[in-house]
Amino acid sequence: MKKNKKIFLGIFIAIIFIISLFVYYSNTALTNTLTQLSPQGISQMMGYTIKTKNGKLIVIDGGTVDDTNQLIEQINQNGGKVDAWFLTHAHNDHVGAFTQIVNTTNIEIDAIYVSHNELAWYEKYEPQRAEFTKVFLDTLAMDKIKDKVIEPSINQKFTIDDINIEILGIKNPEFTENPGNEQSMVIKFTTNKNSLLILGDTGEKSSEKLLQTQKDKLKSDIVQMAHHGQAGATKELYEAVKPKICLWPTPDWLWNNDAGEGENTGPWKTFETRNWMEQLQVKENYIAKDGKQSIEI
Ligand SMILES: [Zn+2]
Repeated sequence: MKKNKKIFLGIFIAIIFIISLFVYYSNTALTNTLTQLSPQGISQMMGYTIKTKNGKLIVIDGGTVDDTNQLIEQINQNGGKVDAWFLTHAHNDHVGAFTQIVNTTNIEIDAIYVSHNELAWYEKYEPQRAEFTKVFLDTLAMDKIKDKVIEPSINQKFTIDDINIEILGIKNPEFTENPGNEQSMVIKFTTNKNSLLILGDTGEKSSEKLLQTQKDKLKSDIVQMAHHGQAGATKELYEAVKPKICLWPTPDWLWNNDAGEGENTGPWKTFETRNWMEQLQVKENYIAKDGKQSIEI
């Protein structure tokens, strides 16, 4: 009888242990999932999400107003709440969907990381875009989110689950040519598996600045191609990053430099960048024109 009791107790403990393991692993994934969103309208756009092992959701930009529904769906499929939202710069093809979501939904956002200048700066250097910039800055100042807005400092580090995040670039108000793009926040995400560099629409001047100030931190397994894969970061910057995988937030017409008359009839420099990455022997390319795609990081 005593022996039987021990056996029953042993089996009972084993069952509880197996159930606990099952519950634990059904709530946590073994890897972090990075998703590149795809253009829903005609415009180029940029939007990424990272679902962490423990179920937290990070959003990077999100696309235009036309991309709003895709982003809402993506958030809802991943828990319905955003734990951290990184906004690279104040352009509509990056933060249009964010602006729309804050103004029209009650989606909960825990923290918004953004580095921007005063409205007067944009009015002076980028007057043609100032109307949207004002809408974006007014949105950040709304009562419901203003306390969640965080302006990161350069080289600031933080951790979300087991992802280490470092801010390698913030606004550069001294760069007044290609002004909006050169304000792009540059963010490095490092997991225990690999590293991801987000460049936003980084241009020539901020590429030089990154090479001067962050050279030893640039090397990354995965890079988001700056400015939708053309006329963005310099070849020298990509050489320092030395990526294995490229993420292209690039629609069909831009990938093919097609202004409507077929391949290579447009003024864009996508083929130049595509050649650089071939020279750097990148074999894996994820292009937004091919639809929403996910990879484990
Ligand atoms: Zn852009």
